[in-house]
Amino acid sequence: MCKYEYINRSNKLKAPEFCIYPKFYQELKATESLDLSDFDNSLPIDEDGYCIFHSKNTEWKKENNFEKKFIDLLKILNQQALNRRTNKEIRDKFDFSGFIFIKSREKDGIIFEGLHFLEAANFLDSIFADSLVLNNVILRMQYLKMILQ
Ligand SMILES: [Zn+2]
Repeated sequence: MCKYEYINRSNKLKAPEFCIYPKFYQELKATESLDLSDFDNSLPIDEDGYCIFHSKNTEWKKENNFEKKFIDLLKILNQQALNRRTNKEIRDKFDFSGFIFIKSREKDGIIFEGLHFLEAANFLDSIFADSLVLNNVILRMQYLKMILQ
């Protein structure tokens, strides 16, 4: 599991809600309706118990190719969104809350290029640890509270 807790979402009467991605990736492997052949669907966990998206360990994130992981996650989420459209199901949200975004070694910033987010994206409490460059991105944000460092 990942130890990240959705603080703003939990109320004191309910059990804490932890990162959804370990279960998400586990279930992916059993899903046949998605074409996952193009990407790695593992979810690395750091030595403190946080997944690649919530880990604060910048060097470890770089070694584990955070940027590719995020883009692959977006592809998976977009495929699921397309399936929902086809099946006329209600829209969901893409949940990136608490994600810590970093740049790759060879880049000058966190570069989102040509990315299309098919459903509203939640970036609540996410952190952009380097400058963020948006280039040809289609994105509808649900929450705008994020930290640009
Ligand atoms: Zn996590």
